[in-house]
Amino acid sequence: MASEVSAGQFRAGEGLAEGAKPGKGKVLLVAGTHGNELNGPWLFDAWNRDPCLRPDTELALVLAIGNPAARAAGRRYLERDLNRSFDADRLADAGAQELELGRARQLLAAHGSAGSDPCLVAIDLHSTTASMGNSLVVYGQRPADLALAAGLQGRLGLPIYLHEADAAQTGYLVERWPCGLVIEVGPVPQGVVHPTILRQTRLALESALEVLAEARSGSLRLPQELVLHQHLCSLDLPRHGDGAPLAVIHPRRQGRDWQPLRPGDPLFLSDDGETLIYEPGLGLEHDLVWPVFINEAAYGEKGIALSLTRRQCWPVQASWGAALAQLAATLNAAS
Ligand SMILES: [Zn+2]
Repeated sequence: MASEVSAGQFRAGEGLAEGAKPGKGKVLLVAGTHGNELNGPWLFDAWNRDPCLRPDTELALVLAIGNPAARAAGRRYLERDLNRSFDADRLADAGAQELELGRARQLLAAHGSAGSDPCLVAIDLHSTTASMGNSLVVYGQRPADLALAAGLQGRLGLPIYLHEADAAQTGYLVERWPCGLVIEVGPVPQGVVHPTILRQTRLALESALEVLAEARSGSLRLPQELVLHQHLCSLDLPRHGDGAPLAVIHPRRQGRDWQPLRPGDPLFLSDDGETLIYEPGLGLEHDLVWPVFINEAAYGEKGIALSLTRRQCWPVQASWGAALAQLAATLNAAS
């Protein structure tokens, strides 16, 4: 039983659901969910040309380009953001026929956990124009996701953005798989392949596969604590009456993702050179907040200049590792 496991270590098959058998699915790696983020697809192209270059793992992998049509066009998406297209209700609406919804249905039919070539874990590779460094995005608080993130943080010390309770932003790809997270690396301009971004993306992905392999073999050890940056809200640029922005991100805030923001700190710089300070919204007056995705190019259209988070330090629960071990025990071995 999970409650008897000490020090975050889990044995093979522990907690395996009744009836679950090894070999139920693969690990899905997705790149190019946004068609103008080129680093993940660049890696996949290289690995497909020469499979010896693929990450060395005992797990069976599936590599998929998320949005090939958008990639061909060099755009984030064609009709709607694929990474906001995985809401179950929207997918079930036969009248909703945008190109990206079709692609989401296609990916699930092929590689969903009940698909023709089933996958149980999805790792989605993204890049950002913001100075996020090598980071992870986790959606909600599913125990297996938290265990995977904790394992990665234990290895690489990566910061983690916990995105949840944001009614304006839903339908993320990895949420439709039993376990999954986003590897988010930046800064890099859209449409640019960058050697540092390639290296960081590969490093985080290899570590994720190591964590999953250890969970599968029963040798996973997790750190005692998980440091998360929990989504609070997003802020738009201040705007004129006609909707045009009246300011940009302040030069003293630009590039300072994951660094604390205090009331009174410079946040925006107006067209006429005036510094606009951070004034906390209702309920946040006494909170230190930690901005992420500062000036992300793709979020302008969403009215997001930056998102604010609260830094949390959570004790790692034995049940998280048990959930991941249970899932990982059913992953296929590489053939
Ligand atoms: Zn992206």
